[in-house]
Amino acid sequence: MSDLKHPRKKIEDAIAAGNLHELLMISGMLHGHFCPFSALGVKGGVRAMKDLRANSTGMEEVIAIIETNNCFSDGVQITTGCSFGNNALIFRDYGKTAFTLAHRTGDGIRIAVKTDKVMEERSPEATALFEKVVTRRSGTDAERKKLNELWTEFSFHLLNIPDEKVFDVRGVKIDVPAYARIFSSVKCSVCSENIMEPRARMKDGKPICLACSDYEYYQLAGDGISVIGR
Ligand SMILES: [Zn+2]
Ligand SMILES: [Zn+2]
Repeated sequence: MSDLKHPRKKIEDAIAAGNLHELLMISGMLHGHFCPFSALGVKGGVRAMKDLRANSTGMEEVIAIIETNNCFSDGVQITTGCSFGNNALIFRDYGKTAFTLAHRTGDGIRIAVKTDKVMEERSPEATALFEKVVTRRSGTDAERKKLNELWTEFSFHLLNIPDEKVFDVRGVKIDVPAYARIFSSVKCSVCSENIMEPRARMKDGKPICLACSDYEYYQLAGDGISVIGR
C-alpha cells in the first residue's frame, strides 16, 4: 500500500514484482482508457527503471526525455514518476514513440518502439475500427465500444510480448540539464494573477502577463518555442 512517506510505493512494488498488469491498471487512471501505446509506455518505463535500478520521488533524481506526446508518454510518466508537473519530464517534440531515462550522472537508457511490429500484432478488425472511430471521428457508439474492447484486450496482451519484439533498447550517456530553477512570482498589473517572473512582460513600467499583453501566446516545445496563437 502507498502511504504518506512513500506515495509511489504501490507502483514501485509492482515494478519490483514485474506486475505490468497492475501498472497498466494504474496508468488507466491517468490516461482514461487502455490502448497499445500506453501499454508500451508502461512496459518501456518498467524496463528502464529496472535496467537503471532507479527510484523516483519526483525530485528529478532521474529524468525522462520523451520524444512524443502520444499515449505512450502517459505510461512512461506513471512508471518512471517523471511527470509534466514535477519537472523531471523533458519534452522533445520529435514525433517518435521513444524516451530516454537517465540518472543525474547522465547514464541512461533509450527505448524506442518498433512501430511496424506493433501494427503487425494488431488485429485487422481493430485497425479498421481505429481508422473509422479515431482517425475520421465517425462510427457508431457500438463501434466505439467494440474498439475499446479490442484495444483493452490487445493492450494487456502486449505486456506479455518479449521486449526485443517491440523495443529497440540501448544504453546512452546524455548531458543532464541543471535542476529546474525556482522563480519568484510577480503580479500582472491587468488581471492581478501571479506569473512566474521570466514569463512576465513589462508595459508602462508594470509587469503584465502574456495573456493580457499583445504578445503572441507561446507554447514551449522541447528546446524551441513555437507560436500557437494570439
Ligand atoms: Zn491512449
Ligand atoms: Zn494578466
